[in-house]
Amino acid sequence: MNDASMFEFSESDAVQKQEQQRWKVLTVEDDPSYQQALIQTIKAVSVRDNLEIEVLSAGCVSEAAYVLSQHKDIAIVFIDVVMETDDAGLRLVDTIRNVVGNSQIRIVLLTGQPSFAPQKDVMKLLDIDEYWNKADLSAEKLHSVINSNLRTFKYIQQIENAKQGLQLILDAARSINGKHDIVSFSQAVLHEIAKIIQVTDGGGILFSGKNQTDSLPVLSTSGCFKDFEGHEVSEDIVGSEIFNEIQLSQKSRSHRITEHYSIFFFDTHHIDFKHYIILVKTETPLSEQSAALLQVFSENVGSGFSNIALLNRLTELAYTNISLNLPNRNWLQREIEKMNSIEINQAQLIIFEIQDFDEKAYALGFQFCKKILLRLVSNIQKTYKELNPRVSLFKDDSIAVILPNKTELNEQKVAQLKRQVFEINNVEQFIDVRVLVLNLSQLRNLSSEKMLNLAESALSNVDPQENEIIFFTSQHADEISSRFELMQKLRHAIADKDITVAFQPKIDLVSHQVVGFEALARWKLKDGSFVSPDEFISLAETSGLITELDNLIFTKILDAIKVLNKVIGSDYRVAFNASILDLVSDNYISEINNRVTNSGLKTCQLELEVTETQAIHNYERVNRSLEKFVELGFHISIDDFGTGYSSLEHISEIPASTLKIDRCFVNKLEVDSSSQHIVNMIMMLADTFEFDVVAEGVETAEQAQWLANIGCKFAQGYYFAKPMFIDELIVWLEHRHA
Ligand code: C2E
Ligand code: CA
Ligand code: CA
Repeated sequence: MNDASMFEFSESDAVQKQEQQRWKVLTVEDDPSYQQALIQTIKAVSVRDNLEIEVLSAGCVSEAAYVLSQHKDIAIVFIDVVMETDDAGLRLVDTIRNVVGNSQIRIVLLTGQPSFAPQKDVMKLLDIDEYWNKADLSAEKLHSVINSNLRTFKYIQQIENAKQGLQLILDAARSINGKHDIVSFSQAVLHEIAKIIQVTDGGGILFSGKNQTDSLPVLSTSGCFKDFEGHEVSEDIVGSEIFNEIQLSQKSRSHRITEHYSIFFFDTHHIDFKHYIILVKTETPLSEQSAALLQVFSENVGSGFSNIALLNRLTELAYTNISLNLPNRNWLQREIEKMNSIEINQAQLIIFEIQDFDEKAYALGFQFCKKILLRLVSNIQKTYKELNPRVSLFKDDSIAVILPNKTELNEQKVAQLKRQVFEINNVEQFIDVRVLVLNLSQLRNLSSEKMLNLAESALSNVDPQENEIIFFTSQHADEISSRFELMQKLRHAIADKDITVAFQPKIDLVSHQVVGFEALARWKLKDGSFVSPDEFISLAETSGLITELDNLIFTKILDAIKVLNKVIGSDYRVAFNASILDLVSDNYISEINNRVTNSGLKTCQLELEVTETQAIHNYERVNRSLEKFVELGFHISIDDFGTGYSSLEHISEIPASTLKIDRCFVNKLEVDSSSQHIVNMIMMLADTFEFDVVAEGVETAEQAQWLANIGCKFAQGYYFAKPMFIDELIVWLEHRHA
C-alpha cells in the first residue's frame, strides 16, 4: 500500500465535489424564441437569488439526450412536451427515468397547449415534479420553481451520498476485518479512512498506548505523517495542541473531534491493557457528512481492535498452561527459537523432573500435584532470582528453566531443589527431583524443537536409580541426535519402501554347490552410503518400526525368490532374519505363513534365522513360535552360535535344523587355537544333536579348507560371495554355471 497518495482525491471525485455548489439547468425547447426567453429568465433568477447556475439548452430530443449524457449532474430539466411529435417531451422523460435511470434530476414539463397536459398517473410514474403552461410561467413563478426543485435535488443528492457513504463504510469494514495482525489492520484502517473522508491534504497516524507507560509507538501512518512510521508519537510530530488533545482523549477514554483533526480512542484494555488511537488531520475542514461517516466507521474499527486483541490473547494462551498459569513447552520452544547465536551460547537449560510423578498424582490427586509443581517453580525462582530465570512447564512432571550458563551450579542450591518436603494433612511428603543440565550451545545446530526432544530423551535414558545431577554432554548429544535423525529417515525409507534386500550365497563345502542364500536387509541413504542393518534394525526395534520394516523386507524376499526360481529352479533355501519382537508377537507366524502361501511359494523354501540369544532369552515363548514354524514347513537355524549363553538343555529342545557358527570364531581360525577349539566343540555338539552346521564369515581359502576338514558341511562368507542384490546375484549365478 502506498500511503502517500491516500489523502488525494481521484480526478472525478474532485470535480464532483467542486461543482456541488454550482447547479446545472437544462432547457429542452424546439421554439428558439421561447428557449431564449426561458434561458434569460433563469439567468435573472440566478443573479437575484445568488445561485451559481449554468444553463444548458437543447433544441430537440436527440440533442437533449446528448447533453444529458455529457452532464450527469444536471439538477433541473425544463422540457417542452410537444416538439417533433406531440409526445416527444414525454418520451424524453421516459428515457431519462427508465433508460438512463437518472432518478435525481428534477423534471419540469412545459406546454403551449393546455390540452396536452399529461395524466396525473403518468406524472407520478415518471416522477415529473411540475407541469406548466408556458403562458403561466412568469419570472416570479420560475423563481419558486427553480428554488424548490434545487432544494429537492440537493436533498435527493444528500440521501444518495449518504447511501454511498454507508456503502463505503460497509466496504471499508469488510476490508479491515480481513486483517488479523495489528499492523496490516492499522494500515487498512488508515487507507479506508482516507477513502471515506476524501480530503487531499493532511494524513493519518495510528498508534497504541499501554496503561502505565507514556510511550505511544506508531503502528501505521499515511499522508503528511508518512515519515513517522516506526517512531513514537510526540509533540514534535503532531504539535503541542494536538498532543494535548491526545492526552485528554487518553484520560477521558473517548474520541475528540474538531474541524481540523479528529482523535479516535479505542479501548482494548479489558483484553490486553492497551488502547489504540487514530489521529486524522486535515487542512480543509471535514464536511459534516465525512465527520459522521468517520464516527460510524470508528465503531467498526473499535470492534476490529478488540477482535485482534482477542486473537492475540488466544494465541498467547497456546503458549500457556492454563491450569498452572505457567508458560508451556511451546513457549519454551519459541523462547529458544527467538534467541540469536550469542544468546544460545550463553544459555543453559535446566530441567527439574519430579520422580514418580504419576504414582503421586494417582495417590495424592491432581490438586496436590499442581501444588508440588507450583512449589517447585517458586523454589526455582527463589533460588535463581538474581539471574532472571525463565521458567516454564516442560512436561506434566517437569519444569524447565533457562539461565545464563555462567551459573555456577551451586551444589547446595541444587541439592535443596533435588529433595523437597511437602506437608499434606500433617504428613510429610518427600519429593525427589532429577536435574538435567544442558548448555544450549551444545545443540546450537538443532532446531529448538529438537533441542527439547533431546533433553527429554536424555532424561528418559537415564538409569532410574541415578540420583546425581545429569550433565548433558556433547557426546550424549551426538549419539541421540544422530539416532534421532536416522529414525526420522528410517520412517520415511520404510514408507517409501526404500529398504532393499541383498542375498549372500551359502555354499556346500564339499560339492561347492550353492545350497541357499541368506537375505540381508540393506538401507542406502540419499548420499549413497549404507546404514548397517545392526544399527537400523535396533533403531526400528526401539522406535516401534520393526514390524513394518520386517514386513517390507519379507515382501521383497518373496518377490526375489519368485524371480530366482525362474532362473535356477526351487531347489535351494532362503534364510531370513527375525527380530525377537516378531518372534514373540502373536500374529507374526500366521502373517508370514499367509504371505508365503499367497505368493504361491512353499514354506520349505524358507528358513528362519534366530539368534542363540533370542532363542534362549525368552525360551518358552520363542520355542512355541519356532515349533509352529516347523509345523508349517519352515526350516529354522540358530544364528551367531557360540556367542550366546547356550544351555545344553535348551539347545536340544529347540526345533532348529541348523547351527550357524558365529563369524568371530571363523575369522580367527588360522591364528587362534581357542577359536579352533570352540568350533570343534560346536561340531561335536551338532553331531550329537544332529544339526547341520553353517560356518559364517569365511573369508579365506584356508578357513574353508580347515572347516571342510573337520566335517563342516556348509559355509557362507566373502571368500565365496558377498551379499548381492538380486540382479547382481543372477549374473553371479550364471557366471558360476558357465
Ligand atoms: P547376521 O544374521 O549374522 O548376518 C551376517 C552378517 O555377516 C551380515 O552382516 C553379512 O553381510 C556379514 N558377512 C557375511 N559374510 C561375511 C564375511 O566373510 N566377513 C565379514 N566380516 N562379514 C560377513 P550385515 O548384513 O551387516 O548384517 C548384520 C546383522 O543385521 C545380521 O547379522 C542380522 O543379525 C541383522 N540383519 C540383517 N538383515 C536383517 C533382517 O532382514 N531382519 C533382521 N531382523 N535382522 C537383520
Ligand atoms: Ca543371520
Ligand atoms: Ca550370524
